[in-house]
Amino acid sequence: MGSTQKNVMRPPQPKREKIPKSQDNYIDNAQTFMKAKPKNQVNTDKIKEKGTTEVDDKKGLKLVPPRDPRVNSAIAPFSDDMLKDEGFKDRKELADAMFTTMKKYGGLGLTCNQVGLPFNMFTLGDHPSIEKGLKMACFNPFIISKSEETVMMKEGCLTFPFVFLSIVRPRKVVVKYEDEDGQLREGHLDGMISRVFQHEYDHILGKNFIDGVSKMKLDMAYKKAAKQMKLYEKRKNL
Ligand SMILES: [Zn+2]
Repeated sequence: MGSTQKNVMRPPQPKREKIPKSQDNYIDNAQTFMKAKPKNQVNTDKIKEKGTTEVDDKKGLKLVPPRDPRVNSAIAPFSDDMLKDEGFKDRKELADAMFTTMKKYGGLGLTCNQVGLPFNMFTLGDHPSIEKGLKMACFNPFIISKSEETVMMKEGCLTFPFVFLSIVRPRKVVVKYEDEDGQLREGHLDGMISRVFQHEYDHILGKNFIDGVSKMKLDMAYKKAAKQMKLYEKRKNL
């Protein structure tokens, strides 16, 4: 991290209480898991075929653990002059590194604070679950309006490996953001892309998808996740 990180993000306010104390076990496992090389976490054969791993290796973007204050703090507005402090020459280089990391971990979306970067930016899409192979790099994203109609969907988050939670959110959103070229864009989103945009936008606000979920539901999800993680480790060592 560059030295300006503290200046561009709001003062770190670790909200440790948000993650129940009883889940220390899961968090410990998650942190170990996330420190492991990404290639151990997902099958990267397909990515290798496309030859896209180098970008990420060069930039070395790594997920930060769930209790890291950076992933629990809102992100200040983005401006291009912030890029050089973190060693990026332009928006495109940042977007490429983010897309590569997202793919490497098998995610549908990734926000900069999840990899410890202080930029108000996320990438989403470029995944079979997303309509029409859509791919977006969103700088200074904002949700203008939300539909009254809501839908429940199961969500996962790269910051919480193997945790899946059913979350109710508005079905459609009207959004604005700046793209890789700095152009202001407006989008009317529905379906999976709407869902991912809303999830990533919460990260921008310093919120995680476990916020507001009942302790009982969370405990269950963490227990399942810990089991899956163990199984994964076992399979990996075979
Ligand atoms: Zn997430």
